[in-house]
Order: sequence, then structure tokens, then C-alpha cells
Amino acid sequence: MRILIAEDNIVNQKVALKMLEKMGFRADAVANNGREAVKAVVDMPYDLVLMDCQMPEMDGYKATREIRNSKSEIRNLPIIALTANAMKGDREKCINAGMDDYLAKPLSPKALADVLEKWL
Ligand SMILES: [Mg+2]
Repeated sequence: MRILIAEDNIVNQKVALKMLEKMGFRADAVANNGREAVKAVVDMPYDLVLMDCQMPEMDGYKATREIRNSKSEIRNLPIIALTANAMKGDREKCINAGMDDYLAKPLSPKALADVLEKWL
């Protein structure tokens, strides 16, 4: 299983990488914005994407829409939103963009493990 972490904050990248490695997953934090996330899933056969909603250049919502609109198999990739805003309506915004599920930051290992078990 290979997981893409699309996240512009380096500390958050490291936290997610460490958690995923501890759980035995291969993970890459090679996408610092939505454009790089779209390119990464085209270039590499990922099994799931953790997608930060707020990123420069292209945000996670737009990147998700692009992936969902793709004509290739990547459109079916599980995409889990990462967001710092634990505000009401946030989940709907993520789901409307085509994301499958939602994790609030700071990441909790338990919540992350539950989501991965559900979608992988
Ligand atoms: Mg961000």
C-alpha cells in the first residue's frame, strides 16, 4: 500500500509520514500543493491520498475535483481530506469536492488508523 501525503506544511508532512511509517505503510510527501498532488497520482500508482484542503497555488478541493474528473483510473482513488478547520459545514465542503472522508488536524493516530482501515 502506498499513500500520498499532499500537504504544504513541512511539520504536518513529517507528523503524517511518521505515523504512517509506524503503521507499516509506504508514504510519500512529495506534493506541496494541489497541482503537485494531481501530477503525483498520475505519475505513481498510489492507493490513497491524504489531501490537505488549504494549499497554495491549487487547494485540495480543486485538486480533488481534477482527479475526480480524470478519464483514467485515478478518478476512483480514495481521497481523505485533512483540514485545520473543525467547523460545521467543513465535512460537506469536502464531500462536495469529491473527497471520501475527512480528518481534522492535528492528526490523531487512532482517527488516521480508522480511516485507513475503512478505505484501504
Ligand atoms: Mg495547508
